[in-house]
Amino acid sequence: MSLEIAKQYEDFVRKVSPQVAELLGVKNRKIKIIFASTVEYPVLGVTSGRTIFLNTEWFGRHPNDHGTIVHEIAHAVMDINVALELESWLIEGLADYARVALGYPTLTGLSPDYDPERLFEGYEPTAHFFLWMKSKYGDMEIKNIARSISEMQVFDVEKLRRLLQEYKKDNERSL
Ligand SMILES: [Zn+2]
Repeated sequence: MSLEIAKQYEDFVRKVSPQVAELLGVKNRKIKIIFASTVEYPVLGVTSGRTIFLNTEWFGRHPNDHGTIVHEIAHAVMDINVALELESWLIEGLADYARVALGYPTLTGLSPDYDPERLFEGYEPTAHFFLWMKSKYGDMEIKNIARSISEMQVFDVEKLRRLLQEYKKDNERSL
């Protein structure tokens, strides 16, 4: 990959990370990106702490896949070093929520949809839950959850459970 292309991605990360941090209610952080040939398809990016490792081949061929980079930026601004298994669906959901909420396309190009079977798998089905939460109650609780996970604090699981029930009820009704 040419230096020029790599710089384009670095500029993108610098420009967008404050927006992602603001959306998730966490501090903006200095993020490092590394193009790594060890990141192989189907993995497009891997984030560890504040460092994003990107699949060199993929991004060389898909210079406009900014959505995937936004997803990884969400992990990086949350600076997750230790994640509980219980939180991983929320973390992947928050990252896809950031991607869609900031107007970047998903991999399929479709908007996340209601998918109760896959709700706890993270990614788009969970992003759909956060988008619902935002449209109904604003993004305060989403920020609370993101910040708590980021700071390794506990959050209100009972409240989350109530919201999930309400989310299902609202969406079952509209099916
Ligand atoms: Zn992820």
